Amino acid sequence: MTDFVIAPAAPVALQVAGTAARFPVHRVFCIGRNYPWSADEPRPTAMPAWFMKPASAVVPAHGVLPVPPGTEDFCHEIELVVAIGRGGRDIDPAQAEAHVWGYAAGLDLTRRDLQQQAKRVGGPWEPAKAFDHSAPCTPLARASQCGHPRSGAIWLAVNGVDRQCADLADLLWPVSALIAMLSRSVALQPGDLVFTGTPAGVGALRSGDRITAGVAGIAELGMTVA
Ligand code: MN
Repeated sequence: MTDFVIAPAAPVALQVAGTAARFPVHRVFCIGRNYPWSADEPRPTAMPAWFMKPASAVVPAHGVLPVPPGTEDFCHEIELVVAIGRGGRDIDPAQAEAHVWGYAAGLDLTRRDLQQQAKRVGGPWEPAKAFDHSAPCTPLARASQCGHPRSGAIWLAVNGVDRQCADLADLLWPVSALIAMLSRSVALQPGDLVFTGTPAGVGALRSGDRITAGVAGIAELGMTVA
């Protein structure tokens, strides 16, 4: 028997690619702008901003993607997702990869109109970012098998037309620097996911759109907007 006064939420988990094993998701960190979005923009010297989504926003990246309520500008962002297997604080960037259990491809779905409004008034980003089903994620590839990707295509197409096309080598701040930064701010814990930012080409999704996307050597996904 249990002393919980209501039923506790079921744990959120990601499938491990090619196995029946599951990776339990603890928290979801998301990195802001981390690719150059135009050729002539100056390279930033400050680390990008980070924000969070609830673990409950993580859903398998297949099947039907519901359009969230309260937006006229529902946007896709394809991202390399890092799964933390070993926690830590003040992690040395040179040791950061040892904390990574695996990688996936994920969508940081965004109610862009609410994000623009939040930016205007200095409000929080949760209404724009932390909604239900806002973090579809593929099964995880184990780092022990796929290695630690430093280059390779990251892409997203809608109805077969390319929207986002970049290379992991274009990341302004590499995964190791992101892990080090986050671990200086919070103690990273096993099960944490880090969405590492999206390249140029974000755009709106409409009902009936077919999304295909992926990260070379890691995972591909396909979803249909409800
Ligand atoms: Mn993003």
